[in-house]
Amino acid sequence: MRKLFRMSHVLVLALALTSALSAENAAAPYDSLPVDPALCGPEDRGEEGKPGVLSTAGLAPYKSYPEVLQLLHQYGRKHPGLMTVYSIADPHPKTEGGNEIGAVRISKAPISEMFKRPVVYFNALQHAREMMSMEVALDIIQYLTDSYGDDAQVTDWIDKTDIWVVPVANPDGLDMIWRGFLNWRKNASAYGAFAHGNVMASYSNVPAASDVSAGVDLNRNYPYDWDNQEQSTKKPESEDYRGPQPASERETQNLMYFLSKYKPVAAISFHTNGELVLYPRGVKDQAQLPNETTYRYMARKMGELIPKDCTEGTYRYGEFWSELYSVVGTETGWMSSNLHTLAFVIELNAPYLGWQPRYEKWRDPTVRKARAAWKQLVGSVWTNSFYGTISNSKRQPIANAKLVLSDAGLQSASTASPIYEANSAGYYHFIAVPNRRYTLKVFADGYQPIVQDVVLDSRSQKNDFEMRSLVEEVP
Ligand SMILES: [Zn+2]
Repeated sequence: MRKLFRMSHVLVLALALTSALSAENAAAPYDSLPVDPALCGPEDRGEEGKPGVLSTAGLAPYKSYPEVLQLLHQYGRKHPGLMTVYSIADPHPKTEGGNEIGAVRISKAPISEMFKRPVVYFNALQHAREMMSMEVALDIIQYLTDSYGDDAQVTDWIDKTDIWVVPVANPDGLDMIWRGFLNWRKNASAYGAFAHGNVMASYSNVPAASDVSAGVDLNRNYPYDWDNQEQSTKKPESEDYRGPQPASERETQNLMYFLSKYKPVAAISFHTNGELVLYPRGVKDQAQLPNETTYRYMARKMGELIPKDCTEGTYRYGEFWSELYSVVGTETGWMSSNLHTLAFVIELNAPYLGWQPRYEKWRDPTVRKARAAWKQLVGSVWTNSFYGTISNSKRQPIANAKLVLSDAGLQSASTASPIYEANSAGYYHFIAVPNRRYTLKVFADGYQPIVQDVVLDSRSQKNDFEMRSLVEEVP
C-alpha cells in the first residue's frame, strides 16, 4: 500500500496455483422455493436435477481466467483508444495463486485526466462459484465499447466518465472452479484451514488433502466493522472466513489501494444469487449512512428494472441486514464508509438456478436484464448529481474538502459524516435524489465554510467553489 501506484499491461499467465483449497456444500433450500413452471423447470437445474451444472464438462461455456484475459485483450485490440486492459498490481504484483487482477478502463480521456472526471466502478466474481456475475461484467465492457459512436447516450457517458470494470476480482478462486471445485467461494490463499470430510469426496478430481487449504472470503476481509464479534466468521474452515486480520488478502489490499486513489462516485459489485439490489448498512447497529435516501432511491430505480427469472415481479431492494442477512467486512461497506462511494451489490439470478445456471439459456437474458440496472446508475451520474471543483483564491485545488448535503433533516448535516470528499485534484461528484431542495455545505481545514441552497432538478448541477482562507492573506 505504500508503493507508488503502478499499472502494467496484463499478461496472460500460465496457471501456477500451488496454494491449497477447500470446498463446501451449498445447503440452500432450493426445492422449497416456488417457481413459475412457464419460466423455470427441472431442465434449468443441471445434472441429476440439482441446481446448476455439476461437472467442469457442463461448465464449459463459462470462461476460465486465462480465457477472460484473452477476451479482454481481444476487445482491447478492437477498440484502441477507448479501452485499456490494466493490472491492479499494487502493492502485490500477483495473487498467491500467481494471477494478476485484470482491470479494464473505458474512457476517451488520457489517464492523467481521471482526477477531473467521475469514476464508476463495476466488479464481479469476488465469490468464485458465482460465475454469471463475471458474464455481466464482461457484457458491460463489450456493450459499452461496441455501442460507442453508435449509441448517443453511451457515447456521451464515455466522453465524460471513467468506467472501470474488474470482471474477476478473485482469479485464484476461479482457477479452483476449473480444478473441479464447483462450490468454491473464497480465494485460495494459504490462510484458513481445509474442511475435511465428505464434502471433498463428492468431487472426482480432488487433489490430495495435503495439497489443500481453504482461503478467505474476500467479501468479509475489508476493514469495515471487520471485528464485529457477532457477525464475522473466525473459523478458518468456514466458507465465509474473514481472514486472520482485516485486509489480510492480496486481492483486498490491491483493490483498496486502487479504489482509495480514484474514489469512485458509484459502484456495483455483482454477485449471485437472490434477485436483490443491496446496499449498506450491513448490520442494523451500524450508523445510518448520510446518503441513505439516495441509496434507497437508486436501489429502487435499479431493482424495479430487473425482472425475476423464475417468478413474477422484479428484484427486491434494501439494506443487507434487512433483505439478505447481517454481514460485515464487505467491500461495499468499506467503499461507502471510507470513500463515500454510492456502492451497491446486485445479487443476480433466482436461487433455483444454482451457482452456475445453464449458460445457453440464462447467459443472455441475465446480462440483458442487468444492463437496465447498471445503465441506470451510470446515467444518474449525469442526470441527478452535484459535481464541480473546490479551490482556493489562487485557483489551487483543495484536496479532500468535505461536502455535506442536508435535506430537511433527512440527510447528513454534519462534517462527521460527509456525503462526499473531493479527490486530490479538488474534484467532487455525487449522486442525489432529484427534484428536491437541499443545503450544500463545503468544509475544509483552514477555510471558511461555504453554505449554499441548491435545487436539483433532472439535470446534474455543476458548482465550482472557491474557498476563502480563515486568515486574511497579506496583499
Ligand atoms: Zn457473492
